[in-house]
Amino acid sequence: METLEFQSEARQLLRLMIHSVYSNKDTFLRELVSNASDALDKLRLETFRDKDLVADTSDLHVAIEVDRGARTLTIRDNGIGMTREDVIGLIGTIAKSGTAEFLQKLKESQDAAASQDLIGQFGIGFYSSFMVADKVTLVTRHPRAEGVRWESTGEGTYTIEDVEDAPQGTSVTLHLKPADPEDHLADYTSTAKITEIVKRYADFITWPIRMAKEDGGEPTTINSRKALWARPASEVTEDEYAEFYRHVSHDWNKPLETIRMHGEGVFEYQALLFIPSQAPLDLFLRERKRGVQLYVKRVFIMEDCEELMPEYLRFVKGVVDAQDLSLNVSRELLQQDRQIQLVRRRLVKKVLSTVKGLMADKPESYATFWREFGTAVKEGLLSDPDNRDAILDIASFASTADPEQPTTLAQYVERMKDDQQHIYYMTGDSRATVENSPHLEALRAKGFEVLILTDPIDEMWVDAVPGFKDKVFQSIAKGQVDLETEEEKAQAGERQKDFADFLAWMTTTLTDKVKEVRLSSRLTTSPACVVGDAHDLTPTLEKMYRAMGQ
Ligand code: ADP
Ligand code: MG
Repeated sequence: METLEFQSEARQLLRLMIHSVYSNKDTFLRELVSNASDALDKLRLETFRDKDLVADTSDLHVAIEVDRGARTLTIRDNGIGMTREDVIGLIGTIAKSGTAEFLQKLKESQDAAASQDLIGQFGIGFYSSFMVADKVTLVTRHPRAEGVRWESTGEGTYTIEDVEDAPQGTSVTLHLKPADPEDHLADYTSTAKITEIVKRYADFITWPIRMAKEDGGEPTTINSRKALWARPASEVTEDEYAEFYRHVSHDWNKPLETIRMHGEGVFEYQALLFIPSQAPLDLFLRERKRGVQLYVKRVFIMEDCEELMPEYLRFVKGVVDAQDLSLNVSRELLQQDRQIQLVRRRLVKKVLSTVKGLMADKPESYATFWREFGTAVKEGLLSDPDNRDAILDIASFASTADPEQPTTLAQYVERMKDDQQHIYYMTGDSRATVENSPHLEALRAKGFEVLILTDPIDEMWVDAVPGFKDKVFQSIAKGQVDLETEEEKAQAGERQKDFADFLAWMTTTLTDKVKEVRLSSRLTTSPACVVGDAHDLTPTLEKMYRAMGQ
C-alpha cells in the first residue's frame, strides 16, 4: 500500500468540500451516478471499437447499495473502470478545465456563503462525495489492468493498493457523516431519500439504476430510463409525452403541442418542448419558475434555463439535452457560449413556426394559444427585433371588422381599401372604451377597419414597431389621420378660413387646457373630440406612468 499526496489544487478543493456549507448537498449523488453512467457509455463504445477487449457488456447498469448499520452508501457500475495511473491522474489531481477559474474565483470571493455558491455553479464531480462522507473508498478495475483500491478522508493524502478479484467497473463507497438537517445533510442511508434524489436528477439516464429496498429483497430499477427525446419520435406515444410533460411542468392538462428537434454536427443536441394549453397563474409574476430544463448527456443540469428560451416564450416547457457540454457548465458559461446562442435561436424559430403551423392546420388550437399566451408573446416585439416579423405573423388582434373574432394582420391587409396606406389602430382600456370613442366615428363612417388594442403592452410595441410588411401602423387618436381626397382637402381648407376667427378665439379661451383648436373631418355625430399630438403619450400610457409615480 502506498500513501500519496493530493496535488495542491485538489487539496484546496477538498478542504472546501469537507467544510462545505453548500445547501444542496444532494448533488453528490448526481455526480457519482453521472460518472457511473459515463463509465458505462465508455465501455460500450470501447467494446464496439476493440473486439479483443475482454469485458462483459450483457448487463450494464448502476447499483446503489445502502448499509444502515455501517452507515455506508455504495455507487457501483460495471463500466470501463480505471487503471492505477488513471486513479492517480484523475482522482488525485484536478486536470479539469474550469478548475483553475473556479479556484481563482474562490480566492477573489471574500464572503464564505458566496464562495459556497460557486460550488453549485461549477459542480465539483467526484470530490463532492466529501460533502457528505468523512471517508471514501473506491475500488476499480479497467478491462486491461489489475484492480486498484483507493481510500481517503480527503485531508491531504490518500492510499492506493492493488487488489485481486476486483469486479469489472468501479464502486465508490461513502462512509457517511451523521445526518444533520442544520448542515443540509439528509439521511443518505434512507432508500426513500436516495430514490427521490435519483428521480429528481437522473430519472432519464438510460442505464438502469438499481437498488434494494431497506427490508432487503431483490434490487429493482428506480429510474424510469425514459429519455423520450432520444427515442425515435414515431415510437413515443401521446400518453408518454403527456406523462413526461406533467413531470416537467407540474401541469395536469394535456399539452397543446409537442415539439421534437435535434441538431447534429459541431453541437449535438436533442430537444423535446411543449406548448401548454393553459397559461400558468404566475405567467406575469417575477418569481415564476420552470421553463426549459437543460440536460447534458441525459443528466439533469438545471431548471428554467433562460439561456435557451427568451423571456417572452417563458411558458414553453421541456428539455434540451446537449451532448457536448460539461456537466459543470454554469449559467455564466452558458451565456457566453455561442453554440448555446445558436441553439436558442433555432428553438425560438421552431416555436414560432410551430404556432404558425397551428394557424393553418388547427385554428382552434391557435386561438387557444393566442388567448392564453398572446400577451406574453407580444413582449417579443420589443425584446426580440430579429423575430419581429415572425411574431407579427402569428399575432392576432380584436378589430372593428368582427365583434367576436380577432383578426391577423394578414387578414386585415387583405381587407384594406385600395387607397388605404395604413393599418389603423386605437389603444384603450377595453373594447367598449375604444368603440365609444369619437375618434372611431370618421373611420367607421368611411368604412375603414380599426384594430382595437387593449393590452398595456400594445401601447409600447406599436411605438417601436414601424409596420407590418410595407404597411405602417397608424394610431387614429394621434396627429392628423389623413383620410381625405384632394377635393375634400380643398373644401376643408376653405372651411378652415371661414372658421379662422372662431378657432383663434377658442384656442385663446382654452389656452390652459389645449394646444390648438382645429376643424375636424373625423367626426360625424359627436360635436368635438380631444386628440393627442403625434408624439404625445396616449391616455392609457399617461395613466400607467402616473400610476408608476412618474
Ligand atoms: P468529470 O466527470 O467532470 O470528469 P469527476 O471528478 O466527476 O469529473 O471525475 C473525474 C474523472 O474520474 C472522470 O472524468 C473519469 O475519467 C474518472 N471517473 C470518475 N468516476 C468514474 C467511474 N465510476 N468509472 C470510471 N471512471 C471514473
Ligand atoms: Mg463527473
